[in-house]
Amino acid sequence: MLKRNLNIKLKSREEIDIMREAGRISALALKTAGEAIEPGISTKELDIIAQNCIESNGAKPSFLGVDGFPATACISVNEQLIHCIPSGEKIIKEGDIVSIDVGACINGFHGDNTRTFACGKISKVAKSLLEVTEKSLQIGIENAKISNHIGDIGHSIQNFVESFGFSVIKNYVGHGIGRSVHEAPSVPNYGKKFSGPVIENGLVIAIEPMVSIGSPELEALSESGWNVVTKDRSLCAHFEHTVAITEEGTFVLTLV
Ligand code: MG
Repeated sequence: MLKRNLNIKLKSREEIDIMREAGRISALALKTAGEAIEPGISTKELDIIAQNCIESNGAKPSFLGVDGFPATACISVNEQLIHCIPSGEKIIKEGDIVSIDVGACINGFHGDNTRTFACGKISKVAKSLLEVTEKSLQIGIENAKISNHIGDIGHSIQNFVESFGFSVIKNYVGHGIGRSVHEAPSVPNYGKKFSGPVIENGLVIAIEPMVSIGSPELEALSESGWNVVTKDRSLCAHFEHTVAITEEGTFVLTLV
């Protein structure tokens, strides 16, 4: 039976064009902050760079104030996975891996993207983690096409990641995106083929594999649920793009 999720808001061609601009600014903020990573810089300084970039392009940071999040970007280092609040005390060192998750809103629509950057020379396993996670995002995007199921995306990501002995994080998932930064459907990075809603023309989703070299279990260090780290403190990575799925093909919107 065809499973339809009535909460999914499919986007028109015009709406996708606006989302392309939100995606472009999100990608520019990510690139600009990423290029500023160097030993000695704080995650707070990187956050200000991302915020300035978004605002100077006439957009607004998508995450600022969401559930009380106090910054523009989530910036997570090494064993930190997601939703880490930038801080003047968190100083980047040579050999760190730094995930920047940032979104921008313009004309009422959001973009959302993440990349894990290397600061200088990183360990062999960290390099492999980054390569596998980035490639798993590409594989997920290849499976995001009309008539496939949402579960096909996660299935392909999980299979690829686990073939390297790494773990897919299950507690956090990708999502629909549009006038809200988080919309239906959920887009897990694991699952079974042919499961979940069928992908239709005009679906816009953020696909965001998160991968750990150790256990996928997590722990939030802040009482309000921010600053999520891997429980065994193993390295983790996170890559994300916002993509539009249409009859003409699947398009990554978060491109500079
Ligand atoms: Mg996201």
